[in-house]
Amino acid sequence: MRTIMLIDMDYFFVACEELRRPEIIGRPAIVGADPKEGKGRGVVSTCSYEARKYGIRSGMPISTAYRLMPDAFFMPVDDTYYEEVSGRIFSIVKEYAARMEQVSVDEAFIDVSGKVGSYDDAAVYAGLIKGDILKRVGLKCSIGIGPNKLIAKMACESAKPNGIRLVKENEVRDFLSGIRIGDMHGVGGKTEARLNAMGYKTLGDIAASSPVRLFTEFGAYGLEIHRNANGIDDSEVVDYHGIKSIGREKTFDSDTKKWDEISNALRFLSGEVFDELRRKGMAFRTVTVKIRYSDFTEHLKSASLVHGSQDMEGIAKNAVKLFNSSRNGDKSIRKIGVRVSGLIAYKGQKKISSFMVN
Ligand SMILES: [Mg+2]
Repeated sequence: MRTIMLIDMDYFFVACEELRRPEIIGRPAIVGADPKEGKGRGVVSTCSYEARKYGIRSGMPISTAYRLMPDAFFMPVDDTYYEEVSGRIFSIVKEYAARMEQVSVDEAFIDVSGKVGSYDDAAVYAGLIKGDILKRVGLKCSIGIGPNKLIAKMACESAKPNGIRLVKENEVRDFLSGIRIGDMHGVGGKTEARLNAMGYKTLGDIAASSPVRLFTEFGAYGLEIHRNANGIDDSEVVDYHGIKSIGREKTFDSDTKKWDEISNALRFLSGEVFDELRRKGMAFRTVTVKIRYSDFTEHLKSASLVHGSQDMEGIAKNAVKLFNSSRNGDKSIRKIGVRVSGLIAYKGQKKISSFMVN
């Protein structure tokens, strides 16, 4: 019996802020861009459940959030701090699992097949993990349990906030049948609309239909939709503990085409990424630049090195080069980001310095 869990922290960034600023507990609180009294231009990253009562949601423009609740606590995103809290949480989770795959700063799949004898054991085990995180870090999470990653993920969605949801193998069909297509993991708005137009409203409708019809409409992706709607997912939990990438972004105060402004931002963001990389003792292989234009179209471009590097110039120079080779000069830029990935432990320099100390 395969038993997979998804552990997902509740309203993570705001919860981290509550840890160090207990005065905001129980109040509407928002982590995201600076609202600048309603003139701010970024978005809400995370908000507390109290903020949600005013209609505030993550991904919403920060100016809209300000209009809905100007008295909320607005706080800037502090990635370094959240990554540190995340490290503490997932080293606890790791103690409970043979394999753990961290998928974002606040989410990880674990395979507990060898640790529990039955699904009911698994629910008890999830309670232990949840309690241990709460006791040792002080934060709440939700846990979904199922026979594969897909079901664990969807079970976790239905467990939020602060819950545990178990979906046994023989319950998968019933669990999925009533779920709206838009709530299926990995299905975007356009696909949802096309599926609705074909007469499908729930995952149960898709599961019962012919895979050929989905293949004709969507190609190979249609077959994947059909498999997912039937709760089939054979992918393994791949052991990966820690962060996969480090990135920083900046929204300009007003849309810009000015090279000094852009190049200063690229250098500044590269420096921030570099500091974080060095603090974590990591080297990178890939640099990615993200450009978001004033019309909200987005462009990503990456370059990879053969060997890992931990070099500030390597980040900054590549960021500038990538920017110049992909920029559409006719459009002004709203937001820009620099990210490094392909992270590995950095060893080179350590050896040299340990020689020098002796
Ligand atoms: Mg979360």
